[in-house]
This record gives sequence, structure tokens and C-alpha cells, in this order.
Amino acid sequence: MTTYVWDYLPEYEKERADLLDAVQQVFSSGQLVLGESVRGFEAEFAGYHGLRHATGVDNGTNALKLALQALGVGPGDEVVTVSNTAAPTVLAIDGTGATPVFVDVREEDFLMDVSQVEAALTPRTKALLPVHLYGQCVDMAPLAELARRHGLKVLEDCAQSHGARHHGRLAGTLGDAAAFSFYPTKVLGAYGDGGAVVTDDEAVDQALRRLRYYGMEKTYYVVQTPGHNSRLDEVQAEILRRKLTRLDEYTAGRRAVAARYQEALGDLPDLRLPTVNDGNEHVYYVYVVRHPRRDEIIERLKPYGISLNISYPWPVHTMTGFEHLGYRAGSLPVTERLAGEIFSLPMYPSLPVETQDKVVSALREVLATL
Ligand SMILES: *Cc1c(COP(=O)(O)O)cnc(C)c1O
Repeated sequence: MTTYVWDYLPEYEKERADLLDAVQQVFSSGQLVLGESVRGFEAEFAGYHGLRHATGVDNGTNALKLALQALGVGPGDEVVTVSNTAAPTVLAIDGTGATPVFVDVREEDFLMDVSQVEAALTPRTKALLPVHLYGQCVDMAPLAELARRHGLKVLEDCAQSHGARHHGRLAGTLGDAAAFSFYPTKVLGAYGDGGAVVTDDEAVDQALRRLRYYGMEKTYYVVQTPGHNSRLDEVQAEILRRKLTRLDEYTAGRRAVAARYQEALGDLPDLRLPTVNDGNEHVYYVYVVRHPRRDEIIERLKPYGISLNISYPWPVHTMTGFEHLGYRAGSLPVTERLAGEIFSLPMYPSLPVETQDKVVSALREVLATL
């Protein structure tokens, strides 16, 4: 059996009765769209964050796009973000008609280099979109200060950081709004697609609710401004309610896996393990390591039945579909260098210890014979 970086089946085995009960509850509720489960999940997800509003949507990409639109971002605007991220971060900006502007990431943690943001601002800049990549938060204080000084909105991309903390505060509570994905691999994952936006701003939340529902005020069935059909599915919402009560348990499981890697691999000179910044509580959505001979390592692990992947092999600014943005090879040197050296080790809360041991010993063997 091949070992992959992620597998939901061990979790499903363990939680099957509860998950199937969730499906059964929705199917017999008499309301399949925007019913009790979506309303309940929204209240509980907002409550988890200590915020007043959460709006469920169909996926993380649309959570980002609708949140940007609700914050007033549109054609002609610029949004500053990073290229070392999942392409959807950038697709969401593009989808509003605004232009993505990239700053580089930091060598030590692969996160947005906040010190480069001010130089990237223009009169068109409308919002900053930090990505709490891999499960730990961007340095938010200087970003918030910049936003305040220049009148910019801050949208957090929390698709990889459910439950992460930054100086004691939860990811998702550090800007004007935050977008989450519940894609199955995520720290809080559905059994299909899902997403949400959290905010404390009533007007932003009202705009989001219209945008996900064709642009209509639900009671009047009149389009106010053309929107989308981006509703969170009722079944996924009920599954997410159940899983939200276990989020802190999942995170504890991920941290235990990370601690075992640190213990078992921390002595290897050329393998760089993840570091946690001061003030951050990491949730390890993925466990990203770095080695100059990454491609050979991945190749040599295959005969052991270990199939690893890379988050992300192609920086977004180098993708064919974003050529029109005008970035050239060399524009974002740290991002480009990292893309050739990083790879992910298996990481999920229910990762069996024997599987992790197998990965550790195979990796040690491969590294010893490089
Ligand atoms: C997963 C992810 C998204 C997109 O979420 P989907 O639910 O797949 O649309 C956006 N940004 C980041 C950083 C992600 O990891």
C-alpha cells in the first residue's frame, strides 16, 4: 500500500457513525439548502472565533473572492499578496477584476515578507491579502499598521490555518475579514467542498450573504448587485458542525505528528524542518521540509511505497495563466528558490505511528545514500 501525504480513511473509520448520522439528520430535516445546519454551523464557527458573523459558502476560492468583493475590491484595484501560495488565492483576486501584486516570502518561514509590502503599494492598492501558509500566521502587527496608515482592507487567507494562534489571538480575527476553505484535506475538512468568511463587520457580512445568493436580498428575491450561487451545502455544514467540536483534538494530533518528526529528523544537517515563529501556535496543515536535492529524494522514496508532494512546485507568478501580470523569472527570488527545494511529509491527525516510522526510516536511508 502506498503512503500518501494525506488520507481521510482512518478518520472516517473512527468517526463513521457520527458522520453518517449527520447525513441522515439533513436528509430527514425537510430542508436541503440553507437550513438549520448551515445556520447552526455559521453561529458556531463565528462563536469559535469570538466574532459576530460567519457566512458559509461553497468553497475557499469563492470565500476569498466574495470576501474581497464584500470589502469593496473590484476592477481597477490592486491587492497585495504572495506568490508562494495555492493558486486559488490569486484566482480569487483575479475573479474580482482586481490585479494581484506579489511580494516575496521570507527565507526562514516561507511566509509573506511584510517588510516589502509598503514598496508594493500604489494609489490603486485597495487590500492586503496575507496567507497564513502551512498553518502559522503572517507577522500581522506591521501589516495592520500599514493598512491603517494607508486606508487599506486586510483579508486573511485562513484556508490552511483553522485554529492557529498569533500572540494568543485566533487566525481569522486579525483583519477586516477572513476566508476559510473546508476542502477535505484542510485542518477543518468537510467530506466535499465548503468554505466560510468570518468578520465582525455587519455591513461586510450582509454584502456576503447577498453575494452568495445571486446578489439577492433573500426576502425580496430582487438582485441588488449581481452575485453568485455560492451557498454552503447543508450536508457539508452538518458534518462541519460535528467536526468543529473536534478541531482542537485534530490540531493536537497534528502537533504530535510534528513533534515526532522533529525528534526523529532534527539531527539531519541538510534537511530543514519547519520552524515556529515567536508568538505563533502552528496547526501544521502541511509539514513542509526543505532540501537542496528535493527531486532526487522524492524519486528515491517511491520504491519504498512513499509518494510525497510539493506545496507548491510552481510559484503562481510563473504560471502560464498569470503571464499577463508581467512577472519574470527572478522577480521573486526566495519564492522561486523555495519552489525547487520544498516538499511535504505525510501529515494528518490520524496518521498511524507505524506509517510515520516507515516514512522516517526510509527518508533517513535515502538521505544517507544521496
Ligand atoms: C485550499 C486553499 C484555497 C482554496 O480553497 P478551495 O476550498 O480549494 O477553493 C485558497 N487558499 C489557500 C492558501 C488554500 O490552501
